[in-house]
Amino acid sequence: MVRSRGGRRIGIFGGTFDPPHIGHLVAAVDAQQALDLDVVLLVVASVPWQKVDSRAISAAADRLAMVEAAVADTPRLEVSDLELRREGPSYTADTLADLRRAEPDADLFVILGDDAASGFTTWERYEEVAREATLVVVDRPGHPAPVDERFSWVRVDIPELEISSTELRDRVAAGRSIRYLTPPGVAACIVSRSLYR
Ligand code: ATP
Ligand code: MG
Repeated sequence: MVRSRGGRRIGIFGGTFDPPHIGHLVAAVDAQQALDLDVVLLVVASVPWQKVDSRAISAAADRLAMVEAAVADTPRLEVSDLELRREGPSYTADTLADLRRAEPDADLFVILGDDAASGFTTWERYEEVAREATLVVVDRPGHPAPVDERFSWVRVDIPELEISSTELRDRVAAGRSIRYLTPPGVAACIVSRSLYR
């Protein structure tokens, strides 16, 4: 267990967010409430090193704008450009170190979806991440994600929303609606920036 330092309770929910969708947002809101977090930062990854070879990633500025639109009306959810301000690949270990420098007594929580949680030990300096932050897996009830049991995990049950950014990109490319799968502000951003066409 990571011992409390008594400061702000900060959730870190990293992703490519290309684009953000209701799966991300429900996970972030439910983790915020379940763990009584002061804030959940949706940390936009600059160079998604695990994805970088597989497809074209939208510009960081576009993804940042979409996440800003997604959380605009949501208390305690905030977008973070911390990883966009650093050179090179985005490692959560570096993000935690940045947050720790800014707020030495903060309690940090790294929030992971089930797929991200099962790949945790492929992360750069994952042991450092587990030392610095409480690991939180947002889980579908009845389908606990397989996690590395060397670390202690906090589980937060969320409803299963079978939705991904891939699905949204495919829908936009095919001219299908994404209404109700992402907030209206995100959909407007996708249109105005001509993304995924
Ligand atoms: P892509 O389809 O491009 O892989 P994605 O929808 O999986 O995108 P990411 O930006 O890769 O989104 O994911 C960021 C985080 O959100 C990860 O921890 C992932 O597990 C989690 N996540 C993604 N989709 C969901 C969902 N539907 N419900 C809960 N968590 C999710
Ligand atoms: Mg994914």
